[in-house]
Amino acid sequence: MVHEVELATRVLNAVRKIEAEHGARAVEVNLRVGEINEPGSLRLWLKKLGGDEFNSAKFNISQVPIMIKCECGYEGSARSIDAHLPEPELGIACPKCGGHKLTITSGQELEIVDVKLEKREVQKRQTKKSR
Ligand SMILES: [Zn+2]
Repeated sequence: MVHEVELATRVLNAVRKIEAEHGARAVEVNLRVGEINEPGSLRLWLKKLGGDEFNSAKFNISQVPIMIKCECGYEGSARSIDAHLPEPELGIACPKCGGHKLTITSGQELEIVDVKLEKREVQKRQTKKSR
Protein backbone atom coordinates (compact mmCIF):
# COMPACT_ATOMS: atom_id res chain seq x y z
CA MET A 1 0.00 0.00 0.00
CA VAL A 2 2.88 2.33 0.85
CA HIS A 3 4.08 1.81 -2.70
CA GLU A 4 0.84 3.17 -4.20
CA VAL A 5 0.89 6.17 -1.86
CA GLU A 6 4.35 6.99 -3.09
CA LEU A 7 3.33 6.56 -6.73
CA ALA A 8 0.20 8.66 -6.29
CA THR A 9 2.25 11.40 -4.64
CA ARG A 10 4.70 11.30 -7.52
CA VAL A 11 1.88 11.62 -10.07
CA LEU A 12 0.22 14.50 -8.20
CA ASN A 13 3.51 16.36 -7.88
CA ALA A 14 4.14 15.97 -11.59
CA VAL A 15 0.66 17.31 -12.34
CA ARG A 16 1.22 20.24 -9.96
CA LYS A 17 4.41 21.06 -11.79
CA ILE A 18 2.63 21.04 -15.15
CA GLU A 19 -0.11 23.25 -13.70
CA ALA A 20 2.44 25.72 -12.37
CA GLU A 21 4.30 25.85 -15.68
CA HIS A 22 1.16 26.67 -17.61
CA GLY A 23 -0.66 28.69 -14.99
CA ALA A 24 -3.59 26.41 -15.48
CA ARG A 25 -5.62 23.80 -13.70
CA ALA A 26 -5.66 20.15 -14.68
CA VAL A 27 -9.08 18.93 -15.70
CA GLU A 28 -8.06 15.58 -17.08
CA VAL A 29 -4.99 13.47 -16.49
CA ASN A 30 -4.34 10.47 -18.66
CA LEU A 31 -2.06 7.85 -17.20
CA ARG A 32 -0.61 4.57 -18.32
CA VAL A 33 -0.13 2.31 -15.35
CA GLY A 34 1.29 -1.17 -15.37
CA GLU A 35 -0.63 -3.83 -13.45
CA ILE A 36 2.27 -4.21 -11.05
CA ASN A 37 1.54 -0.72 -9.78
CA GLU A 38 -2.04 -1.71 -8.99
CA PRO A 39 -3.99 0.80 -11.06
CA GLY A 40 -7.17 0.37 -9.00
CA SER A 41 -5.46 1.14 -5.74
CA LEU A 42 -3.50 3.97 -7.31
CA ARG A 43 -6.73 5.57 -8.49
CA LEU A 44 -8.09 5.56 -4.93
CA TRP A 45 -4.94 7.16 -3.60
CA LEU A 46 -4.94 9.81 -6.28
CA LYS A 47 -8.43 10.73 -5.19
CA LYS A 48 -7.61 10.62 -1.51
CA LEU A 49 -4.32 12.50 -1.69
CA GLY A 50 -5.54 14.87 -4.38
CA GLY A 51 -8.40 15.94 -2.14
CA ASP A 52 -10.03 19.28 -2.84
CA GLU A 53 -7.12 20.44 -4.91
CA PHE A 54 -7.85 17.90 -7.62
CA ASN A 55 -11.54 17.30 -7.10
CA SER A 56 -12.36 18.71 -10.51
CA ALA A 57 -9.65 16.73 -12.26
CA LYS A 58 -10.44 13.43 -13.83
CA PHE A 59 -7.82 10.72 -13.70
CA ASN A 60 -8.04 8.26 -16.56
CA ILE A 61 -5.93 5.21 -16.08
CA SER A 62 -5.18 2.86 -18.89
CA GLN A 63 -3.90 -0.41 -17.54
CA VAL A 64 -0.90 -2.08 -19.03
CA PRO A 65 -0.98 -5.84 -18.56
CA ILE A 66 2.01 -7.67 -17.18
CA MET A 67 3.98 -9.38 -19.92
CA ILE A 68 6.79 -11.76 -19.22
CA LYS A 69 9.58 -13.55 -20.92
CA CYS A 70 10.60 -16.90 -19.47
CA GLU A 71 13.81 -18.83 -19.78
CA CYS A 72 11.79 -21.68 -21.35
CA GLY A 73 11.05 -19.43 -24.29
CA TYR A 74 7.54 -18.38 -23.32
CA GLU A 75 6.68 -14.81 -24.04
CA GLY A 76 3.34 -13.31 -23.19
CA SER A 77 1.03 -12.55 -20.32
CA ALA A 78 1.69 -13.76 -16.83
CA ARG A 79 -0.47 -16.34 -15.11
CA SER A 80 -0.83 -14.75 -11.75
CA ILE A 81 0.41 -12.03 -9.56
CA ASP A 82 0.40 -11.76 -5.83
CA ALA A 83 0.74 -8.07 -5.24
CA HIS A 84 1.03 -8.55 -1.52
CA LEU A 85 4.47 -10.02 -1.82
CA PRO A 86 7.23 -7.53 -1.15
CA GLU A 87 8.66 -8.25 -4.56
CA PRO A 88 5.70 -8.64 -6.89
CA GLU A 89 7.67 -10.37 -9.61
CA LEU A 90 8.10 -13.36 -7.33
CA GLY A 91 4.37 -13.92 -7.44
CA ILE A 92 4.31 -14.37 -11.18
CA ALA A 93 4.63 -17.80 -12.70
CA CYS A 94 5.19 -18.83 -16.28
CA PRO A 95 1.99 -20.31 -17.73
CA LYS A 96 4.00 -22.75 -19.81
CA CYS A 97 6.51 -24.24 -17.39
CA GLY A 98 5.39 -22.75 -14.06
CA GLY A 99 8.83 -21.34 -13.55
CA HIS A 100 9.76 -18.12 -11.87
CA LYS A 101 12.87 -17.22 -13.78
CA LEU A 102 11.20 -14.46 -15.69
CA THR A 103 11.91 -11.13 -17.15
CA ILE A 104 9.08 -8.67 -16.94
CA THR A 105 8.83 -6.95 -20.29
CA SER A 106 5.82 -4.76 -19.53
CA GLY A 107 3.46 -3.94 -16.70
CA GLN A 108 5.76 -1.72 -14.69
CA GLU A 109 4.77 1.54 -16.35
CA LEU A 110 3.80 4.72 -14.62
CA GLU A 111 3.50 7.41 -17.23
CA ILE A 112 1.58 10.59 -17.56
CA VAL A 113 0.41 10.42 -21.16
CA ASP A 114 -1.14 13.86 -21.21
CA VAL A 115 -2.78 16.42 -19.02
CA LYS A 116 -5.66 18.53 -20.20
CA LEU A 117 -5.49 21.97 -18.73
CA GLU A 118 -7.97 24.71 -18.21
CA LYS A 119 -6.89 28.27 -17.76
CA ARG A 120 -7.88 29.69 -14.41
CA GLU A 121 -9.01 32.88 -16.06
CA VAL A 122 -11.50 32.41 -18.84
CA GLN A 123 -10.39 34.67 -21.64
CA LYS A 124 -13.60 35.00 -23.57
CA ARG A 125 -14.37 38.57 -22.76
CA GLN A 126 -14.58 39.96 -26.29
CA THR A 127 -18.16 41.07 -25.80
CA LYS A 128 -17.05 43.45 -23.09
CA LYS A 129 -15.58 46.70 -24.29
CA SER A 130 -12.20 47.47 -22.88
CA ARG A 131 -11.24 51.00 -22.15
ZN1 LIG B 1 8.51 -20.91 -18.71
